[in-house]
Amino acid sequence: MIDLHCHVLPGIDDGPETIEGSLSLARAASAGGTRTLVATPHVNLRYPNDAATIARLVGELNERLAAERIAIEVRPGAEIALTSAINMAPARLAELGLAQAAGLEPHSWEDQFWLGVARAAAGVDPRAAVARAIALDPLEPGLRNAARRLASSSRCSRPPS
Ligand SMILES: [Zn+2]
Repeated sequence: MIDLHCHVLPGIDDGPETIEGSLSLARAASAGGTRTLVATPHVNLRYPNDAATIARLVGELNERLAAERIAIEVRPGAEIALTSAINMAPARLAELGLAQAAGLEPHSWEDQFWLGVARAAAGVDPRAAVARAIALDPLEPGLRNAARRLASSSRCSRPPS
């Protein structure tokens, strides 16, 4: 079993405060049959974690898990608040494993469209994301009208990041 969302890294968000707490969580997950934990610490205004910190803590935790013979592997991830993601440079999003939202690997028109909506809501120019949504599915009914309204109604005070 793979847990794709957990706050298991110590001391960087509202998860365990110490690595002993992380080991307790991992022990319980292991007993329940989990073999892989994707650590998804918060990345938001309160917890502005970065990829280097997450990678270091994942490495330290995996070393301790091996030493304690807990059969579980921790992999790096992040729970990035949309309010933080919209202002991050694409390279920083990609570092955190969110290449899709960075526009590097567009997946679905919905993802791009909602990224555009989030940008417009934050006063950031949504047009590049919306253009990608249209390119991904030019036949989606209503998308062009919605895109036009979004682009004209948003008061774009900042360029897209
Ligand atoms: Zn979470």
